[in-house]
Amino acid sequence: MSERVALVTGSTSGIGLAIAHKFAQMNYDVALNSFEPTDTWSGLVAELDGLGSGEIAYFPADLSNAETSRGLAESVITRFGRVDVLVNNAGVQKVAPVETFADEDWQRIVAVSLDSAFHAIRTTLPGMTERGWGRIINIASAHGLRASPYKSAYVATKHAVVGLTKTVALEAAEKGVTVNAICPGYVWTPLVARQVADQAKVHGLSEEQVIRQVILAPQPTKQFVQPEEIAEMAAYLCSDWARSITGATISIDGGWTAK
Ligand code: NAD
Repeated sequence: MSERVALVTGSTSGIGLAIAHKFAQMNYDVALNSFEPTDTWSGLVAELDGLGSGEIAYFPADLSNAETSRGLAESVITRFGRVDVLVNNAGVQKVAPVETFADEDWQRIVAVSLDSAFHAIRTTLPGMTERGWGRIINIASAHGLRASPYKSAYVATKHAVVGLTKTVALEAAEKGVTVNAICPGYVWTPLVARQVADQAKVHGLSEEQVIRQVILAPQPTKQFVQPEEIAEMAAYLCSDWARSITGATISIDGGWTAK
């Protein structure tokens, strides 16, 4: 049995994958998740399995669906016996003016990022507090602290994830469990690449102009954050040196929220 069992939601791509990779190197057992069937990710499971001495397993669960979302953490506990580290990372984006923002896009964004975090926290926190050690890391966003136009659902959801983080941190404070939100600025991942076309449409710009004038405009460094920078912070939050960091919003945003 490995020292720690980690569940990382939405971990087949981008930031979640970088965190899963790091945890595998730290010899954690890692529960990977996305919505595709298990076969799709057998190669990825084998690749991560080779990185350390922990076990890697994939748990298909569409987190936009309340029922499968509620069951995910339970399935991981059934398979590994416990969850010590929970990273609520899954997230989706949609860029559109609020007047035309589709109901189903609103519901999907809230379900995937916020409702799934609530369900996973409720299921895993009792075991963590019973054992007197746990780490909950919510991947929020600079958009959990600042707004941008045309992202009503995403900004509202990420602000709510920050509120959930602070509340659970207070509830768990005396029980050896820390709860924090990492708030990245723009990280070059498929989620960002996919929104370039939408942004070009609403802003009336070319895709290249969108990257320079819209996406990197609020990020003073004018550089994308790398997924591995987020993974290193997640690893630090899991260390004993981070035991007094709780209820925090940790910005990794190239100076965005300094303004
Ligand atoms: P990504 O698109 O590369 O990865 C998202 C992951 O979530 C994938 O594994 C995907 O399969 C999974 N996912 C999507 N819908 C799902 C569903 N219904 N059920 C289960 N899994 C689902 O995105 P990313 O950029 O790595 O984003 C990860 C997190 O980081 C998100 O919460 C995002 O809001 C946040 N974030 C990203 C950035 C950025 O610039 N990329 C900035 C701030 C915050």
